[in-house]
Amino acid sequence: MAGLDYSKNADLIDNLLVREARKGRGAASNRAGRYERHAGEACDDGWGNLEEPLEKLQTIVQADHSRTVITRNASPDLGFDRSINAYRGCEHGCVYCYARPTHAFLGLSPGQDFESRIFAKHDAPEQLSRELCHPGYKCRMIALGTNTDPYQPTERRLEITRDILSVLSQY
Ligand code: SF4
Repeated sequence: MAGLDYSKNADLIDNLLVREARKGRGAASNRAGRYERHAGEACDDGWGNLEEPLEKLQTIVQADHSRTVITRNASPDLGFDRSINAYRGCEHGCVYCYARPTHAFLGLSPGQDFESRIFAKHDAPEQLSRELCHPGYKCRMIALGTNTDPYQPTERRLEITRDILSVLSQY
């Protein structure tokens, strides 16, 4: 980008910077979610900040503290009324993913946050066992990973989906 005049090529330089730093990621931006009151935007502060390369985007996996693991739906369009999602966000980062907007519920961006800020339900197997044992529970088909991929990269290390299947096989 050396030699480019920022005042004449602002959009081009912004795009080049973002793309360079986010190589391998699906989303090219990290716009604020629809519920946020404020949104940030990169700009030249006059001190050469745009010349500095952005840090590589690292994936962070955090604990999801949802109190239930089986999610119910009443949609007539779906062939199941309950599902389990071990993860929120997905590191695969497909740009067309319909789950992206759900990250806005967490105060995060459906853009790069969706694919780099992953929430894992570590206690999903134990929660599932409790929910299946509940006296009022009626057996029905459970869909796995309807929102985000249950076999995304972090599953290799955490094996939550594997443990969920193990619990289901016991019942
Ligand atoms: S949940 Fe599926 S569609 Fe969405 S990013 Fe992951 S692999 Fe792609």
